[in-house]
Amino acid sequence: MNTKPENHYKYCPRCSSKGSFNNTDLSFKCENCGFHFFLNSAAAVTALIFNNKGELLLSTRGIEPFLGKLDLPGGFVDPGENAETALLRELKEELNIEPKHISYFGSFANQYLFSDTIVHTVDFVFTCEIDNYENIEPHDDIMGFTFVNPNNIDLNDIPFESVKNVIKHLQK
Ligand SMILES: [Zn+2]
Repeated sequence: MNTKPENHYKYCPRCSSKGSFNNTDLSFKCENCGFHFFLNSAAAVTALIFNNKGELLLSTRGIEPFLGKLDLPGGFVDPGENAETALLRELKEELNIEPKHISYFGSFANQYLFSDTIVHTVDFVFTCEIDNYENIEPHDDIMGFTFVNPNNIDLNDIPFESVKNVIKHLQK
């Protein structure tokens, strides 16, 4: 399976005519009806949660891609949401966590293989302070979690490039 987007955008979703994919700006254009669609980066959010020993919370993915692999909590920003709202929603859904304070850490570009197509994302990372570690429960698309000293994380265990880059920033 060729995962490049140009192999997956051939026909116009509005009029069904054949269209052309521009690999430079990642856009699809229909010559027949003029429909023009850009594959902009999808916005996603990621949480850094530390315990009082300075260990980082890693989740275990309960869904494909990379079922069973280590990840950081988070997910895609829904249309109409801002990044902070998406972060709070994902943390509540995935781990039953309601942070008392969040602060912006930085953003990281990523490529995500979904439906055999490369999806470009930009991950907005936030440090989240929580005061209740007892109520953390994995739900939804994660099946577990663990706290690990960032220096002890083997980057080969982390499938996503953006998550590796975040953890590299934390390692000394
Ligand atoms: Zn068209």
